[in-house]
Amino acid sequence: MTVNSKPLILNGRLVADEVQKNIISEIEILKSQQKRVPGLAVVLIGNDPASQIYVKNKDIACKKLGLYSEVHNLPSTISESEVLNLISSLNFNNKIDGILIQLPLPNHLNKEKILDSIDPTKDVDGLHPYNLGKLMRGDKTLTPCTPQGVIEILKHYSINISGCSAVVIGRSILVGKPVSILLANENATVTIAHSKTKNIEEVAKNADILISAIGKPKLITKNWIKDGAIIIDVGINRLQENGVNKLVGDVDFENVNQLCKAITPVPGGVGPVTIAMLMSNTLKAYKERMSK
Ligand code: NAD
Repeated sequence: MTVNSKPLILNGRLVADEVQKNIISEIEILKSQQKRVPGLAVVLIGNDPASQIYVKNKDIACKKLGLYSEVHNLPSTISESEVLNLISSLNFNNKIDGILIQLPLPNHLNKEKILDSIDPTKDVDGLHPYNLGKLMRGDKTLTPCTPQGVIEILKHYSINISGCSAVVIGRSILVGKPVSILLANENATVTIAHSKTKNIEEVAKNADILISAIGKPKLITKNWIKDGAIIIDVGINRLQENGVNKLVGDVDFENVNQLCKAITPVPGGVGPVTIAMLMSNTLKAYKERMSK
């Protein structure tokens, strides 16, 4: 077993900065042409503290980059028809190019019905069946932000995807499934593992590129890692250690970092790139609408 003393840290903040710099220059040009800027509407339902932080960060990013931003804070008791009415008005609002419903939703709301009511051309989270279908076909479309962020990180660091063995752990529609399709579209040989996978450590050990989207703190240790693997840790888990709150990934960073070739940290890995991809999708949706 080779021991790498120092893995390459795949710095998501750096990747996000580069994406955002390009967006800022494009928005400056739009402003100088006195065109309207791209607009994003985020809908937050209820008081989930993590969701409140994510929504605040998205609003800050819009303002920093010069996008128009609206945040709709709705009470957790809101009825489904009121949510659908709001989405319908945003679908017709000419200032808005992107609509994002912050997940998770309160239990009484039908998530699929709500997500399916978004105009697919404004679906900047890429979760509408129309956009997911186009993703399956390999067409250009609005793709889910976190999966797209994973690809952006790999490409930023010139990590070769084509022909690699990629193992994705997690099969959610938000992360696991779309990232698997994106990797397959980039010519990786993809295995999807999940909570029912047998001998999961052995499966993970085949990965040249290991993507973890589980939501279990530090579950992945060196027994799961092939020597020289590239690890992308999507997990964001809140832990209390010695009375201090901290964020950790699915991967036990300290335990694996001598074995892998490169790894994303948590925080500072996939998270910032996800927000940059949301901004990028909003600009993309804007350009598409303006070209019609
Ligand atoms: P999810 O709960 O919808 O899906 C989790 C998946 O992990 C499931 O498919 C399940 O089969 C699998 N799983 C659960 N326990 C497992 C185990 N012991 N072994 C193997 N597989 C197991 O979660 P999600 O929405 O896909 O999110 C996953 C993680 O990614 C969470 O920590 C979430 O907070 C994080 N996340 C991060 C970002 C970001 O921007 N960095 C964005 C979205 C989600």
